Amino acid sequence: MNRKWTQPEQMLLRMTNDFTDNEIAPFDLQIDHEGKLPAGLFDKLVNTGFLTMMLPEEFGGAGFGPEITAAVIERIAQGNASVAVTLEGHFKTLDQFLKYGTSALKAKYFPTAGERIFAFSMTEASGGSNPMGIQTTAVRQGDGWLLNGNKVMITNGGLAEVYAVLAKTAPDELSVFVVDKDMPGFQFGKQEDFIGLRGTPVGEIVLTDVYVPADNLLGKVGDGPMLGDSAHDDARILMGAVLSGIMTHALNLSVTYAKERKALDVPIGQLQIIQHKLANIAMSRDTTQLLYERAAYLKATQQPYSEAATMTKAYGSRTAVAAGDDALQIYGGYGYSREYPLAHLIADARALEIAEGTVEKMESAIALAELGKA
Ligand SMILES: Cc1cc2nc3c(=O)[nH]c(=O)nc-3n(C[C@H](O)[C@H](O)[C@H](O)COP(=O)(O)OP(=O)(O)OC[C@H]3O[C@@H](n4cnc5c(N)ncnc54)[C@H](O)[C@@H]3O)c2cc1C
Repeated sequence: MNRKWTQPEQMLLRMTNDFTDNEIAPFDLQIDHEGKLPAGLFDKLVNTGFLTMMLPEEFGGAGFGPEITAAVIERIAQGNASVAVTLEGHFKTLDQFLKYGTSALKAKYFPTAGERIFAFSMTEASGGSNPMGIQTTAVRQGDGWLLNGNKVMITNGGLAEVYAVLAKTAPDELSVFVVDKDMPGFQFGKQEDFIGLRGTPVGEIVLTDVYVPADNLLGKVGDGPMLGDSAHDDARILMGAVLSGIMTHALNLSVTYAKERKALDVPIGQLQIIQHKLANIAMSRDTTQLLYERAAYLKATQQPYSEAATMTKAYGSRTAVAAGDDALQIYGGYGYSREYPLAHLIADARALEIAEGTVEKMESAIALAELGKA
């Protein structure tokens, strides 16, 4: 799509490209091998103002909208997807504070959002696809609530300082509470050792009799399912952008290699079978990009975007895994070496067939939306 960026948006994209080229891309393999961001990178993300770029100016942010926010995420993901996913997890949580937080909640938490990461916590060991299966409880105590339970596999778990937590307020009722890591009874638990997105911490939080004031209810009692769906939708747009970024990374590597590497005395890029793979990567990237841009446009113009957001992540995650595999094959034996980034591109993309709703659940959601239109 030919979205015409404003002057400030063009400046932001230039700044993001420079930041990605200088601060992220050179460390891509290091991030994968060491399983963490290089020292100082998180502080640089904070200092350049990325963490509040999408918050409205009245809350201390830069006021950038959904379309340019997704474009920024895509460019960062071209350098390293896990840096982009760390921002995605923060942004989707801030989005829920914006949509459902009271003025008091916003006043309490937004002034810290430029330095502290926020996270959205639904999944438990008992299962992530079925929210009603969770066991975390919130019981009224005085003016507030007492929370008990464990949340696992939380994006930025361990790094984030503020958590939106899905809890049962009655056997068939789910609500969301804002929990601060400094509240008594809050602990960090196990950190996941995932195969991809190695720079994004994903971990457990353990809540033992954590007292949460009434103000920290996000939305209303019983709004949990709606808030969970809304967080998924906002996350899925940005994940479409992450997947486009991964595929651009794969395409750039593949094109460069296909021009240099020779077989039968010609560059392998002149072999039709290799061209077929390059074409597939490019088509998948462009389609995913169009899908996320459409979803971001619908969101920016206050139109329903749930199905469009789900499509970009469902389509993008499946095709990005295939694109990474095509790129690996173009590199031949070197592609299979951890000295090159192809394997981690596949593993990074693979996470997004699971996080923020599995592909199976998303395909059901798309089908139900289509059935509902008939
Ligand atoms: C990198 C990463 C980041 C994550 N970040 C977060 C986060 O920030 N916050 C958070 O709360 N969670 C997070 N998760 C957890 C993620 O949301 C869950 O892993 C996901 O929802 C699936 O839940 P599960 O792992 O318990 O699998 P299960 O729900 O046990 O599913 C197992 C299998 O059964 C299938 N299945 C289950 N139910 C259905 C159904 N109704 N229809 C069709 N198929 C079904 C699934 O598709 C899957 O293939 C993250 C996970 C990953 C990998």
